[in-house]
Amino acid sequence: MDRRLSLFSFPPLLILCVSLVGLSAVDGRDNRTEHRTFTPINLDLYHSSIRLLGEINGLVRRHPDKLSKDTIKAGNKGYHTEVTVITYCHGRKDVYDNSKFRILLSFGQHGRELITSELALHILSILTEEESLDNIDSITLNSFLDKLVIKVVPMENLNGRKLVEGGDLCERRNGRGVDLNRNWSVDWGKKEKDYDPYEENPGVAAFSEPESQIMQKLATSFNPHIWVNVHSGMEALFMPYDHRNTTPNGLYSVRMRSLLEDLNRLHCHNRCMIGSGGGSVGYLAHGTATDYMYDILRVPMAFTFEIYGDGEASSKDCFKMFNPTDFATYNRVLKDWSAAFFTIFKVAPKHIDEISSQIALSSSKKFESMDDYLQGYLMDRSSRYGKKTEVLDLGMQEIRTYFRLFLLSFVLLMFMFCSRISKTKSLRTSMSSMPL
Ligand SMILES: [Zn+2]
Repeated sequence: MDRRLSLFSFPPLLILCVSLVGLSAVDGRDNRTEHRTFTPINLDLYHSSIRLLGEINGLVRRHPDKLSKDTIKAGNKGYHTEVTVITYCHGRKDVYDNSKFRILLSFGQHGRELITSELALHILSILTEEESLDNIDSITLNSFLDKLVIKVVPMENLNGRKLVEGGDLCERRNGRGVDLNRNWSVDWGKKEKDYDPYEENPGVAAFSEPESQIMQKLATSFNPHIWVNVHSGMEALFMPYDHRNTTPNGLYSVRMRSLLEDLNRLHCHNRCMIGSGGGSVGYLAHGTATDYMYDILRVPMAFTFEIYGDGEASSKDCFKMFNPTDFATYNRVLKDWSAAFFTIFKVAPKHIDEISSQIALSSSKKFESMDDYLQGYLMDRSSRYGKKTEVLDLGMQEIRTYFRLFLLSFVLLMFMFCSRISKTKSLRTSMSSMPL
């Protein structure tokens, strides 16, 4: 979700800066102070993309009863990518059981937000019980996980992530410069006054990017009840809309907000901003995944979470701005947010069940009121045309009686006619046998 203006984001400025660094070296000036302002990726804490996906492969191999992996590939115009999708389903056999709640989570849609993919790995480790959650035992955990199928995309933007690992720490877009959270079709391509082409390039068309195409197909076929797009850059719990500064109306919207308030209190230490993405983040975002999930795919609960941000960091210091840099904060973020996701796994299906019951109840009330309406309408008619109705009713009764009598006589006549024919036939048969 987050976008930041970065000097190092502009290739011409990058060249200029590199030239200046070169010149200062020639001049003999010490530029080490300047370099120290940019925090490098802390490799003691963070996995490389290859290592992280390797760790996830290990989990899938060790827990075939719970996890399965799909790799979806797509490409166009010489640009190719692949998206790893991990499916959690206890027992595996019920993956296609429609009675289960379906949850779709995406991490790493923006390359520079490394902490989000670390969280994906941590959640998968808890799902397989290789890691544990505080205050929750295995039996309780499995009692609510049994009702779910969870699909996790741990690193949606693999190509963008590789650019970050290659040194472009401020890169958020995919491998060919498109912001994957502006490439969806709801309000696609609309540009605000503060539009920043480096940060928010929406692509040449909605779903022009292979990553978005893969995600759209995945979401359409899986048809989730809950969608969460996980980002970093600030601490926030967003619901639709991103392209407007309002939230939708209706029961689901009320429940979404209530769930977010609970999550804020329980897991975000009341620090999280809550509300519509467009109304809270300070800018409207057009063509986002969450707006598409809610508006087009009708996912009942669609969210964007911002799990960490360092507001004090310099806008050039992207690794620090979007990711915890020390061990304690890194662990705290993983712990708090994995607990938040397990709260969702536990309570969100209940919310959706209750909404479904409320909707069913209100539709039955509608039917009741329709009956009442008809009853009232007929009463009204009978009072207005009371006498005529009585006369008509009497007439109808007589017609019915005559019709019944007519039918009875017809049946009797037919019976007599048939028995007569039968007697004649038997007489003829006896006569024909006589000459022989
Ligand atoms: Zn983001």
